[in-house]
Amino acid sequence: MSTTVLISGASVAGPALAYWLNHYGFDVTVVERAPGPRETGQNIDLRGAGREVARRMGIEEAIRSASTGEIGVRFVDADDKTVGAFPRGKGDSDGATAGLEILRGDLARLLIERSQDRVSYVYGDHIATLNDTGDEVEVTFAHGPERAFDLVVAADGVGSSTRRLIVGNEAQIKPLNMYTAWMTIPKADTDTAWARWFNAPGSRTSTIRPDNVGTARATLSFMTERRGYEDLDIEGVKAVLRQRFAGVGWEVPRILDALDDTDVYFESMGQVRATHWSRGRSALLGDAGYCATPVSGMGTSLAITGAYVLAGELSRSRDHRQAFAAYEALMRPYVDQAQKLSPGAPRLANPKTMVGIAAFNTGIRIAATPVISRLARKIFTPPADHIDLPDYSPS
Ligand SMILES: Cc1cc2nc3c(=O)[nH]c(=O)nc-3n(C[C@H](O)[C@H](O)[C@H](O)COP(=O)(O)OP(=O)(O)OC[C@H]3O[C@@H](n4cnc5c(N)ncnc54)[C@H](O)[C@@H]3O)c2cc1C
Repeated sequence: MSTTVLISGASVAGPALAYWLNHYGFDVTVVERAPGPRETGQNIDLRGAGREVARRMGIEEAIRSASTGEIGVRFVDADDKTVGAFPRGKGDSDGATAGLEILRGDLARLLIERSQDRVSYVYGDHIATLNDTGDEVEVTFAHGPERAFDLVVAADGVGSSTRRLIVGNEAQIKPLNMYTAWMTIPKADTDTAWARWFNAPGSRTSTIRPDNVGTARATLSFMTERRGYEDLDIEGVKAVLRQRFAGVGWEVPRILDALDDTDVYFESMGQVRATHWSRGRSALLGDAGYCATPVSGMGTSLAITGAYVLAGELSRSRDHRQAFAAYEALMRPYVDQAQKLSPGAPRLANPKTMVGIAAFNTGIRIAATPVISRLARKIFTPPADHIDLPDYSPS
């Protein structure tokens, strides 16, 4: 009889793990809290090892076809004049814009499509309790009937409630004191294939990026030590954004105007630090285990690489204790590097005062000059290829 695995979360990490586990002959169920596949989300990128895993899954071309077409990032002032421009990287890892940019919902859809024929996806439910008997994990759900699985994996994001059931207080969230809202807005004449980044005083930042579906993708970020915004409902979030960004120039009024008619994904940026990524027959994967935040540029690459390694190690030993240990030994140094943000991040890129913005812009101007743009490229390049990916195919 094949090993049964329950995965919590159907975004990037969950379906990628489902794909690989099914590939190795496991019997996989994925439970997702949302009532159906979540299609929202903005531009995310696959770099380094994450890109190599996509290649091994045979989805690299499909991702490329669904690419947002972003050609680089321009830092702009309030008049939309370019302060410095950084074109897209050419290799697997480099540059502020990676070669493989895709909307999160499109990537999730691709991963689900590649696995749904052989994997059972259950929507609109979530795990309520876990009881690891040593031989199996008994699982109760908020809605569905109780079931038992050989293994359970939490892939339900930074706010994972399953993580607590698995490792209890051993996982902490290290806040970056920054909130970001992502939303889709109508396209305007000023929107091109370049992403644009604008800083306003008060550590408020806005970006507008291209997509491939005729709209534009915007963010509003602000830094604060105050906590609790993450608990607001969507109307509360919109009210806070209107209040925080009132009077800000550039194209921010256009973003605020669009708020009533748009989806908003709002996150308190925080890194998940867990002393262990497994306990007994259960393990953590992706943002649920080791969120590095979008500031790192590595979240999706970590999720998809972690899924590949976890499934590969489980297929190799078929002893979950050994497999979980090997998964952690391989992934931990990679994650540690991803979580080590550039010095001063995110504060440096989100200055508090006009003087701070002027200093930041001077840095950007210098960094964009051809002489040192190679160095700048290095600064913007996350450590995405700093792992030796094992080959798990049968020899
Ligand atoms: C709707 C959405 C939009 C996003 N937009 C962006 C973006 O614009 N830019 C960016 O950089 N990152 C974004 N992210 C985060 C990004 O997808 C992740 O950082 C990264 O890809 C790692 O993915 P993950 O699968 O580990 O976690 P996530 O992508 O966070 O996925 C977690 C999944 O688990 C589900 N879930 C949550 N709790 C439970 C539960 N208790 N039981 C079952 N399922 C549960 C969620 O609905 C979600 O589908 C977004 C995530 C989501 C869910």
